[in-house]
Amino acid sequence: MFTEKKVIGILGGGQLGKMVLDVSNKWGLDVFVLDPDKNCPSSKLCKKFFKGNLMDYETVIEFGKYADIITIEIENVNVEALRYLESQGKKVFPQARVIEIIQDKSIQKKFYQNNQIPSSSYKVFNGSDEVKKGISLGELSFPFIWKASKLGYDGYGVKRITDNKSLEEINNCHCIIEEIVEIKKEVSVMVGSRESGERVVYPPVEMEFNKESNQVEYILSPAQIDNDIKIEAEELALRVSEKFNIIGIIAVEMFLTDEDHLLVNEVAPRPHNSYHFSIEGSYTSQFEQFIRSIMDLPLGSTKILENSVMVNLVGNKNSNGEVVYKNFDQIIGIEGVNPHIYGKFETRPNRKMGHITVINKDIDRAKKIAKEIRDTIIITSKK
Ligand code: ADP
Repeated sequence: MFTEKKVIGILGGGQLGKMVLDVSNKWGLDVFVLDPDKNCPSSKLCKKFFKGNLMDYETVIEFGKYADIITIEIENVNVEALRYLESQGKKVFPQARVIEIIQDKSIQKKFYQNNQIPSSSYKVFNGSDEVKKGISLGELSFPFIWKASKLGYDGYGVKRITDNKSLEEINNCHCIIEEIVEIKKEVSVMVGSRESGERVVYPPVEMEFNKESNQVEYILSPAQIDNDIKIEAEELALRVSEKFNIIGIIAVEMFLTDEDHLLVNEVAPRPHNSYHFSIEGSYTSQFEQFIRSIMDLPLGSTKILENSVMVNLVGNKNSNGEVVYKNFDQIIGIEGVNPHIYGKFETRPNRKMGHITVINKDIDRAKKIAKEIRDTIIITSKK
């Protein structure tokens, strides 16, 4: 039942939280936010802001006491505290159990294996010495993908290792080694689920990565894939969501291999960069679906309103400090251009500072405009 009396508490106050708040404010809901930075994107929009460390047990419990429903916009939070809040009868969505699996790539991969979810083959190692030993013993051979088990994001904890020289670049931490997948396309599929059992799936999107930074650069909606692969991707995403038994939304990132097989790479149990386009491009945005799902409200239509291409606006390579957005005016007059600026005070190389969704009947035209935006807008620092 809809009630604006329930307080939602979000752990994390970045841009994802900010875009959730755009919806919760539209609906007149009270949302509290916990973040270590009092100038984070969400702090000005929430009903109450709490400054604190998301990994600290006591801080998370204290914050949770004020909320009826507790959720996240980042996975690096104290799971033990969430477990305690669950035991006290609080609604924690996604559940602590789900967040715990996702925090560790080695546990996540094991989960896929145990649940017959197709994913690339992998091995687990305790540190770089073990990896090197594996190579000398012939258990491993170049090339492969190295991933830190914990705390990697936006490709920072991921490296393609081709020889002994690149092997020297890996950190000495618990890690997984994956076989290299020959990727034709990377797709993402969002699924929403609520406590009453309803589950909805969005049409797949296609992700294009920046080769240098390994970050998502463009998202195409819908993904330019054959209909049978689209259906297969949707079914696979639904199966992943069911196996996790998650309440909330989950973005399932997949590889479409050269042989047209789908392999799950990883999931995000929250709003995700790949579905930002849904604010303008879908009947129901991922942020509204997120609120509907954690409040156990009827889920919204996932249908596409218009073809769209989203481009991330990231900080220039060589700039650090107070942000300036250059050439913004040259671009935003074009039809179908929808800018989002996250309100971060400082820019850093590759920091996500905003995004633009271009909607257009013709997806090729949308892509052209998105490229033009990428080449024109410069996000730099004052000095
Ligand atoms: P993160 O959690 O930092 O986003 P991912 O696991 O998504 O890291 O990996 C980042 C990117 O690295 C992927 O989008 C893909 O382009 C590439 N990648 C990851 N795993 C593999 C693999 N097994 N084979 C080939 N490329 C991979």
